[in-house]
Amino acid sequence: MKLDEYRRKRDFRRTAEPAGAGEADEAADGLVFVIQKHAASHLHYDLRLELDGVMLSWAVPKGPSLDPSVKRLAMQVEDHPIEYNTFEGTIPQGEYGGGTVMLWDRGTYRPDEVPPGADEATAVRRGIRAGKLSFTLFGERLRGSFALIRTDRGPKPKWLLMKHRDAEADADSDITEDVVTSVVSGRTMEEIAAGSGRVWRSNRGGRSGGEERKPAPPASAATDVIEPMKPTPARSLPDDDGWTFEPWRGGERVLAYVASDAARLVDARGRDVTAKHRTVAESLAALSSRLERPFVLDGEFEPAGAGRATFFAADLLLDGGEVLLERPWQERRAALESLLRRRRVRNVKRQETVASGRTMLGRAERAGWPGMFARRLDAPYEPGVEADGFLRIPRH
Ligand code: MN
Repeated sequence: MKLDEYRRKRDFRRTAEPAGAGEADEAADGLVFVIQKHAASHLHYDLRLELDGVMLSWAVPKGPSLDPSVKRLAMQVEDHPIEYNTFEGTIPQGEYGGGTVMLWDRGTYRPDEVPPGADEATAVRRGIRAGKLSFTLFGERLRGSFALIRTDRGPKPKWLLMKHRDAEADADSDITEDVVTSVVSGRTMEEIAAGSGRVWRSNRGGRSGGEERKPAPPASAATDVIEPMKPTPARSLPDDDGWTFEPWRGGERVLAYVASDAARLVDARGRDVTAKHRTVAESLAALSSRLERPFVLDGEFEPAGAGRATFFAADLLLDGGEVLLERPWQERRAALESLLRRRRVRNVKRQETVASGRTMLGRAERAGWPGMFARRLDAPYEPGVEADGFLRIPRH
């Protein structure tokens, strides 16, 4: 029942189908699963199973196997927001590694045994609690029955992931070798890392998928990496604690994908506006070069328009190999401050932020801004949605 309500509130067609993919909705009929291939400090595969409004998550260093004799270590990590299911991307830089996330598989799953009178979510909940879950994946790459067996409790419980013997089992193949492209965009890890646009492949999933790599187009070609989090329109100040307040200057909202050789600026509608803000793009690329790492910023231009307008960096979404989207705003802000600290970056400033909404409204009044933004200190960055922890409050 709880999950029914959760389903009414959330749009699975949106969460299971990243913007622009235009593929059939497979998520509406059951619990959702995704597997993300993640080139962090160590390459691993993140298995995520929907339960009770979150994605239970395991980091599987070697990824899944279709060979029933193979047991793969799966370290349970913190639950992830459902919105993370659509995340694929990285900084536009032509190299492997560092925070590149690929949507490797997606679909629905079902517990193999549902006790009489229980629903599927209840069965999954019981299996997780008992440390033994048998479930069937209905994915685009993975199908058939798998087991997760807990071997060790503790803060990061260890589990083993293994394939059951069934028609989908295959002792002779190595699925992680065979399938090297994104299930939503058809891109390889290199193409995602390079920030290149979607490359549709008729043979995706096949062994040749990784061999037909096209040279990555220039960074400016990409448009589909992270969707900006949308502010929820609000009429008044939040009445609880734990918020911080920023100017809403009414200028252009921009995500900046910055690597040492180039920066790409994309507005809220996904249009490339790099050419319009050449000075800022160049000074951000220079910063990346000095820091020797790529990063992604979210921010607002002053309304002066094109040319030499100042960019106010408000949020840091990726920093080198770190994907910060799920971190609380406070942590992202601390990372943003250390990124820009003591470094003069032409035409780029940190967005101001104050603890008092009244103070910021007063400033908006005097400066003639449309109003202010409020951010909850502990809120994650939720791409593409009107987030509860991000409000836009007009000054009247
Ligand atoms: Mn991961």
